[in-house]
Amino acid sequence: MTDVIHDVIVVGAGPAGALCAYTLRRLGMSVLVLDKASFPRPKPCGGGLTIKTLALMPYSVAPVLERFTRGLEFGFRTPSGDTFRTVAGKNPICTFAVREKFDSFNFEQMLASGATFETIGKIEAITEEADVVSVVTAGATYRGRYLVGADGANSRVRRLLGLDAQIRRGFALEGIVPYTRLDNVPKPEFFFGVTRNGYGWLFPKGDHVNVGLYTIDDDPSLSKEALRAYAQERLGTDQIDDVVGFPLGFGGDKRLPVRDRVVLVGDAAGYAEPLLGEGLHNAVKSGIAAAQAIFTTRSGGGRLQEAYRRRVATLMDDLTRCRQMAAAFYPDLDRGKLLIALSRPALVRGFAAGMTMVEMTNLLPFSAFFRPAKPSSLVELLAR
Ligand SMILES: Cc1cc2nc3c(=O)[nH]c(=O)nc-3n(C[C@H](O)[C@H](O)[C@H](O)COP(=O)(O)OP(=O)(O)OC[C@H]3O[C@@H](n4cnc5c(N)ncnc54)[C@H](O)[C@@H]3O)c2cc1C
Repeated sequence: MTDVIHDVIVVGAGPAGALCAYTLRRLGMSVLVLDKASFPRPKPCGGGLTIKTLALMPYSVAPVLERFTRGLEFGFRTPSGDTFRTVAGKNPICTFAVREKFDSFNFEQMLASGATFETIGKIEAITEEADVVSVVTAGATYRGRYLVGADGANSRVRRLLGLDAQIRRGFALEGIVPYTRLDNVPKPEFFFGVTRNGYGWLFPKGDHVNVGLYTIDDDPSLSKEALRAYAQERLGTDQIDDVVGFPLGFGGDKRLPVRDRVVLVGDAAGYAEPLLGEGLHNAVKSGIAAAQAIFTTRSGGGRLQEAYRRRVATLMDDLTRCRQMAAAFYPDLDRGKLLIALSRPALVRGFAAGMTMVEMTNLLPFSAFFRPAKPSSLVELLAR
């Protein structure tokens, strides 16, 4: 055990952990970040970054944005056959990055802000005392005044602290197809119903298209064969590289994942939304929120629970809305098809405006007044 007691230990250097550590450093706190991987490292993810996610970033991520889109193809496979609807407008509604590069970029910003990083082996225990939290691995014990669990959908921190109860998991499987195997760059799409309670997606990047299958069910049996069949149907090839699956963490609207000195963020907290499986927005949002809540508490501003609750209240409301929409949408895609047809203009304006699902749906009748957001990342991307 070392004598050093850090202000905060962050376990996990994905987007939630990196943005948390960056914010803590900006607030003047000492931070040790621990991850089982060294960076850069691959991460199974579509790398779809919505405008609202770009708007949250404290710095421009334009250098790692590979594409943007003003429209999406929405396919529906229902008993009455396949239908496609284009949802498109004048302004960008989503951008695409390769996760390895996005995470590496955030990691570099985090190091530049002054955070310390160490690669660790298995975490064997976490102990909480009155004024210090310890993370025990086979080789070392790390001590901090606060601990942030940012270690993703399979969070070990969450499990060791007994905070697993409300968490549900979804699942997604993805791979890449280089454009050299294709005649055209495909349009970005979500094809609902090609998997049970989920969709297939195509997200075009710089030199390849990311192809994947998503389900809200905790269903690691989504098969490589099903992914190949989807790619064959939509891209005309079943040759997919780097196929890999990973869970998503849901259920974070049910309970606040905080103890006196520990807080969970991102997928570890169950903050991916189940409707489309977007997790990056809430990972970034909760990472920043946890940093601010710890700073407030450390400066004498009350309990961590309350400080964090205030900052993630809207995020949790949004998760509830997405969960209810997913429960209504997936079992009856004919109804979903109709809903998307009716709300198409509001959807494109809402996504372009960087709105959350609650904002978009509450303000639906006023969508003509939504104005496109202009986060610096997007402005720089458009200027390239
Ligand atoms: C296939 C797939 C496609 C997706 N596509 C999208 C998309 O297009 N857009 C979107 O918004 N969301 C998408 N998501 C969801 C998104 O990937 C997650 O919500 C997001 O990565 C959560 O970020 P995080 O920082 O909480 O966790 P992670 O990104 O999972 O990072 C966790 C970090 O913790 C480390 N770690 C894990 N366990 C330990 C341990 N025991 N000890 C130490 N370190 C540990 C890991 O190495 C990792 O660096 C997708 C998910 C999947 C699975």
